[in-house]
Amino acid sequence: MSEVFGWRVAQKAPLWDSRPWPKVPPDWTCLQLELAGVCGTDLQMVRGYADFEGFLGHEFVARVLESDQPDWVGRRVVGEINVGCGSCRDCQAGDQRFCPARTVLGIRGLDGCFAERFRLPLANLHPVDDLDPELAVWCEPLAAALEVRQHLTPGVEVLVLGDGRLGSLIGLALREDHRVTVAGRHPAKLERLRAIGLNTTIGVSGLWPVVVEATGTAEGAQLAVRSCRPQGTVVLKSTVADSSGLDTNLMVVNALRVIGSRCGPFEPALQAMRSGQVDPRPLNDQMLDLSEFPRALESRGFKTLLRGPAWTDEPAASQ
Ligand SMILES: [Zn+2]
Repeated sequence: MSEVFGWRVAQKAPLWDSRPWPKVPPDWTCLQLELAGVCGTDLQMVRGYADFEGFLGHEFVARVLESDQPDWVGRRVVGEINVGCGSCRDCQAGDQRFCPARTVLGIRGLDGCFAERFRLPLANLHPVDDLDPELAVWCEPLAAALEVRQHLTPGVEVLVLGDGRLGSLIGLALREDHRVTVAGRHPAKLERLRAIGLNTTIGVSGLWPVVVEATGTAEGAQLAVRSCRPQGTVVLKSTVADSSGLDTNLMVVNALRVIGSRCGPFEPALQAMRSGQVDPRPLNDQMLDLSEFPRALESRGFKTLLRGPAWTDEPAASQ
């Protein structure tokens, strides 16, 4: 166990490479990948968003290989990706997402899950022995999508900009409590979203009380600001390698509320999946072996999943 292999970025391309396997600190666990999800952030990171040397990957279902709590070993888990310092004001308040000294799995200072094995503190893990791994793997992005709900009044009309992975998931996450329309540019993707019951529109017209930007493009934020009704709310979700200037005058003139939104807590996402309120599995497109990650870069579909060494074809205990 002196070294571990995984996918990192070298010269804007994925590279299967080894790194020394560090000692697992007390209260941390060693995890073996069962299923990973490839998301827009991973693709942006291959293009150069975030200066990160480690292994990629932060959406996962895994088995606990090692833990100093023996009853955790062998369990199927998902895990929150932010690891705080434990002592700053945010960490003391129980929210590691904004700790200035945090590391983030597969994004900042901590090797990610597109690897043979990886590490997280036990406190970050949530058992999901009862969930289908193809559902549970959505926990992290669904938590991020549900975070948008925090900023909205139930029942309000919402335009989601973006018919890709993130926009589709936000549409599914919000439709229980809001009147949601997903706007995109790809007829085939929009057709597929209509088939799973979402309202869609090609292109954007009119002004909306709430606009959620999830295009994954530098121009998306500007379009969101332009599509928002005066005194409306714009929620920004995309992180992009080349973020462009934004016309702040329009925000001032129209007195917009502009909110940045990132990760969310896992509990509401687990609850939404367990109750059947949100089921993103229709967005799963292809399942590849971990070794085939570069093929995910060519996908024009919604979600690519990667099978890790802990993957089996056995069905989950229930569901
Ligand atoms: Zn902290």
